[in-house]
Amino acid sequence: MTDPDENLQPADVIPKRWQCCHCGGTGVDSYSDTCQHCEGLGFC
Ligand SMILES: [Zn+2]
Ligand SMILES: [Zn+2]
Repeated sequence: MTDPDENLQPADVIPKRWQCCHCGGTGVDSYSDTCQHCEGLGFC
């Protein structure tokens, strides 16, 4: 008897974009300028 939850899709299906590690997802850096790491998108 196996648990059907074991057959969920693999965890390697990750989002193409993620919260920016530089601005924290705000799209603005500490100087209130557009984050150059994500170009203001908030994702990188
Ligand atoms: Zn980033
Ligand atoms: Zn950013």
